[in-house]
Amino acid sequence: MKRIGLLGGMSWESTALYYRLLNEEVATRLGGLHSADCVLASVDFAPVARLQSDGRWEEAGELLAARARELEGAGAELLVLCTNTMHKVAEQVEDAVDVPLVHIVDVTADAAHRAGAKRLGLLATAFTMEQPFYADRVRSHGLEVVVPDAPGRELVHRIIYDELCRGIVEESSRERVRGVIRELVDRGVDAVVLGCTEIELLIGDADSPVPVLPTTRLHALAALDLALAADG
Ligand code: GLU
Repeated sequence: MKRIGLLGGMSWESTALYYRLLNEEVATRLGGLHSADCVLASVDFAPVARLQSDGRWEEAGELLAARARELEGAGAELLVLCTNTMHKVAEQVEDAVDVPLVHIVDVTADAAHRAGAKRLGLLATAFTMEQPFYADRVRSHGLEVVVPDAPGRELVHRIIYDELCRGIVEESSRERVRGVIRELVDRGVDAVVLGCTEIELLIGDADSPVPVLPTTRLHALAALDLALAADG
């Protein structure tokens, strides 16, 4: 098993989910007392969120690149950046290390293809829904992206930062996000990307008439596939 480097804390609520998923899956696949070989760099999210809202992405990228180098120094053989939004600076992180970064969009696009989906709704932070870095990479896989209208985007963004990143899971918010999903389905999407690593703490298959693509689960399992691959 290769050592997985988790670059997390953004937020820690979803990093905890990555950690649980990795360990549960290793136990399922290898049995016995096996657990995931991983190292975690968990940042303080407040300054990172401040850099996001100030548009200081280069500085945020430098911060994450430094933490990625620490993970590599601690023996990580592959890296998992545990947030969709910060994949905006994925290249800066990749350039800082010699080990591969498992890109969350590529993993999600692969899952969309496996599900036979072509037109994807995207629920995520405003940064991820409104800036081109994420949708462009999805499109590079031959897929279409549809984002909610402005009030829907604002709602989802607010629920992520004010609730889910703080461990608050509200039934009223679940119902409102279901409404956003219904609108996306009315616009012809055939799957919905839960494109923020906290959204699957709130939304699952039962909340959507079309399949959901839970990026945290997909990302964690793809990293594990690589970590357990026989070919080095
Ligand atoms: N974890 C979230 C994501 O996947 C939002 C927090 C962040 O901005 O990193 O985008």
